[in-house]
Amino acid sequence: MDGLGDRPVEEFGGKTPLEYANTPNMDKFATLGMNGLLHVISPGVTPGSDTAHLALFGADPYEYYTGRGPFEAAGIGLEVKHGDIAFRTNFATINNQDIIIDRRAGRIKTGTEELANLFQDMEIDGIKIILKPGTEHRAALILRGEGLSDMVSENDPHVEGKEPQEFHPLDDSPEAQKTARVLTTFVMKAKTLLSNAEVNKDRESQGLPPANYLLIRGAGKVPKLPNFEKEYCLETACVAGGGLYKGVGRLLGMHIIEDPRMTGGTTTDLSATFGNALEALKNYDFVFTHVKGTDNFSHDGDPVGKMKFIEKIDKELYRFLPENFKQDLVVMITGDHSTPCSFKDHSADPVPLIICSPDCRVDKVTKFGESYAVEGNLGHLLGKHIMGIALNELRLVHKFGA
Ligand code: ZN
Ligand code: ZN
Repeated sequence: MDGLGDRPVEEFGGKTPLEYANTPNMDKFATLGMNGLLHVISPGVTPGSDTAHLALFGADPYEYYTGRGPFEAAGIGLEVKHGDIAFRTNFATINNQDIIIDRRAGRIKTGTEELANLFQDMEIDGIKIILKPGTEHRAALILRGEGLSDMVSENDPHVEGKEPQEFHPLDDSPEAQKTARVLTTFVMKAKTLLSNAEVNKDRESQGLPPANYLLIRGAGKVPKLPNFEKEYCLETACVAGGGLYKGVGRLLGMHIIEDPRMTGGTTTDLSATFGNALEALKNYDFVFTHVKGTDNFSHDGDPVGKMKFIEKIDKELYRFLPENFKQDLVVMITGDHSTPCSFKDHSADPVPLIICSPDCRVDKVTKFGESYAVEGNLGHLLGKHIMGIALNELRLVHKFGA
């Protein structure tokens, strides 16, 4: 559950949304399992969702993380290659005075596929340009070719009513200079192409903001990540709706289960998510299942929404209870970081963790929650520890030494 951890909420009598929520299934796992608190990257470090997931899967983010762009690009299904420079991109609206008046082009719903096609086969300075739309105004951009760098600034001013920023190299290398030059040329060409596109003429005639500009940010060189399946000898499936999480899974070599009912939002179909996870367990050894909505409610500062969403998730977890699942199954329940509703952003507070297996050393914890978990026998762990602990539960780890 993304952004699961929280802080005491006054209207919940000082409990967190998770502690206040009615979660009989999670509590059962807590009762039958081992509990602890997880510092996903390390104590005092506030994780992003991308770095957090790398850490949970045992890929040190300090070694492998190069920016969010590559994960977003892989998440919407772009075939990214090691060495590509990937960016997060928004279709946006710019006026005649070159002022950004809508950073999301009115959250454009249709037509972005057609707009992206305008850039098919585009090359600038020998660099291939690949733009693929995601949901609504979102898209991913890839620059592919020789002599590129991810040390380049963004053109997104992050507020409306301002001009876009210029792309600057962030170091002295000729690669960074070339990348900034290519981006500058690309954005100019894109503005002309987009302004003249049929899709945008239609939008303007309907009084909708045209998607006539591209805001580009989050440069990252596509890293060569360790292959999760090879690393752990597990056939692995990724069940997620959010693009970033599918991207992390894809770059780690997991099989991605696609289902449009899983939206990665707060109205996602949770029975689809956990039904798919159950189905995937028939064919895969390890199933990573991700739900994003908990984090969305947290960013909106809505503890009641978060609490109710946790209750909805809980209802879906009956499938995996030992009484309903006959094979040996290790269930790990946790978050990628805390997102206290009072912060409306991520924090370094550790997240509660359950690891439940058929013959684990059961502790005395009987409820799932931040303040209960610390009483458990797992104590305080780092994110990178959990895969080894889970594998040990099924006697799947090699001995270190003789
Ligand atoms: Zn997250
Ligand atoms: Zn978040």
